[in-house]
Amino acid sequence: MRLGEVASVTDPGRRRRRNEDAYVVRPPLFAVADGMGGARAGEIASRLAAEALREGAAPGNGGEEQVGALIQAANQRIFERSSADETASGMGTTITVALVEDGIVRIGHVGDSRAYLIRGAKLEQLTEDHSLVAELLRSGKLSPEEAETHPQRSVITRALGTDPDVDADTFSVEAHEGDVFLLCSDGLTTMVDDEEILRTIEASSDDLERAARELVALANRGGGEDNITVVFFTIAADDAPDVESTAELTLPAEVEAAEEDDEDTLTELDGIPTLQPAAEPPAPGRGRSVLWAALVALLLLLLAAAVLVVWQYLL
Ligand code: MG
Repeated sequence: MRLGEVASVTDPGRRRRRNEDAYVVRPPLFAVADGMGGARAGEIASRLAAEALREGAAPGNGGEEQVGALIQAANQRIFERSSADETASGMGTTITVALVEDGIVRIGHVGDSRAYLIRGAKLEQLTEDHSLVAELLRSGKLSPEEAETHPQRSVITRALGTDPDVDADTFSVEAHEGDVFLLCSDGLTTMVDDEEILRTIEASSDDLERAARELVALANRGGGEDNITVVFFTIAADDAPDVESTAELTLPAEVEAAEEDDEDTLTELDGIPTLQPAAEPPAPGRGRSVLWAALVALLLLLLAAAVLVVWQYLL
């Protein structure tokens, strides 16, 4: 068995001007991080976590231990920065990491970004959210229906970077050929239910990049109240033909707000849907229109150069 197709998409959603999610696609390592904190701190926290993972901040011999060590190293990096920088004080992030090795997927996580396994037409949530609502649900104090609409459903009970040490859950899953693993931030799972996620993946099982885009579009259609990040990887047979992996894809490019304020930043109560109208309509394909604009600009430039050459020739 080996890694098959890989796909990833991140999108700011319809309510946030910034994307404070970050992700890592460095096969065999994958991760999703969802930042929180005032000003731009959430963005800094999730990016620091992603950086630490990409750089392999905790080299090791694999296994759950290494996943745990990577998460600790990322935690340390964020905590150190927030201790040194007052504006970033209290920042944190969720993290969900998957490391694929020899047919086993090692998973570690803190917070409410999830890992799912799609196998044999079934979708299984592998991670247990470290969130207030998930805890109330597990202890029977809330019904699943109440949990779905609970105003504090985005409040997490564990985060990376807020303390010198972090308590991460780690576990291993034996992979089968054909397995599809999905890592995602809560911007997907609060807007799109499990059934719809499964249906979307099954409808595009031959093209996970399309499935990822479709999931983001569904989350935006459902309100797009938070940043949305989707990372897929599949397990293929050793002799399966090579599937072209899709590059890391960011849709659309992050747009900086003209004014700086905290209106769209995360706090303890982040994620409570606000009653403000969406600042912008959803913009699927904005990344593509930027590409088109660049192409048109390039063509114009070439045309101008040609005219100049002809002009000089005539003179
Ligand atoms: Mg979120």
